[in-house]
Amino acid sequence: MIGQALATVKARIADAARAAGRDPDSVTLVAVSKTHPAEAVAEAIRAGQRVFGENRVQEAKAKFPELKEAHPDLELHLIGPLQTNKVRDAVALFDVIESLDRPKLVRALADEMVRVGRRPRLLIQVNTGREAQKAGADPDHVDGLIQVCRQYGLTIAGLMCIPPAEADPSPHFRMLAELAARNGLAVLSMGMSGDYPVAVQAGATHVRVGSAIFGARDYG
Ligand SMILES: *Cc1c(COP(=O)(O)O)cnc(C)c1O
Repeated sequence: MIGQALATVKARIADAARAAGRDPDSVTLVAVSKTHPAEAVAEAIRAGQRVFGENRVQEAKAKFPELKEAHPDLELHLIGPLQTNKVRDAVALFDVIESLDRPKLVRALADEMVRVGRRPRLLIQVNTGREAQKAGADPDHVDGLIQVCRQYGLTIAGLMCIPPAEADPSPHFRMLAELAARNGLAVLSMGMSGDYPVAVQAGATHVRVGSAIFGARDYG
């Protein structure tokens, strides 16, 4: 079932890419496995999926070390908010951290990456809708935050956003693409189960798809 769902999502990504005149291989599918058990991840791995996203450090730590040991080519993305007291675990476990959003976190990550000599790729999360309750840097602060990263020796690969739930995502995807272009950043992580074809149309290099692959989440 997960294998079939993965095939469907990949086909829709490829269709959207071709319709936009893009190479389907220029879009990476991040399978978001949060709340789903390791067995569901294992099923996706058996179907050929290698890139996964989790939004909580503790949950990923419980689920992924064994899977990563068995599959060294597995790539794990942190897509949820990161607290500074979880930076050590995050740097140890994740290959990409998509939720960098404030100077304090830049300092903590830089210190830890030097200390352990492991360098996950970094994306800045942008709060494109300027929602008070949502994580992410204010769009007006992104250029400055990139400067802070440079001062601390951190390279930013790109940007990530989660548009407001009920809004048309297109203007948010466009804003993210413009911010990235202005700063010479190649990676654009945008698009979820409800809107990933639109995101591919707008230039996404990474789409983060959960429920369309693993089914509905049960938060108990
Ligand atoms: C949960 C989550 C997703 C996946 O959401 P779906 O709608 O299930 O595809 C993508 N990005 C982030 C940051 C998430 O927390």
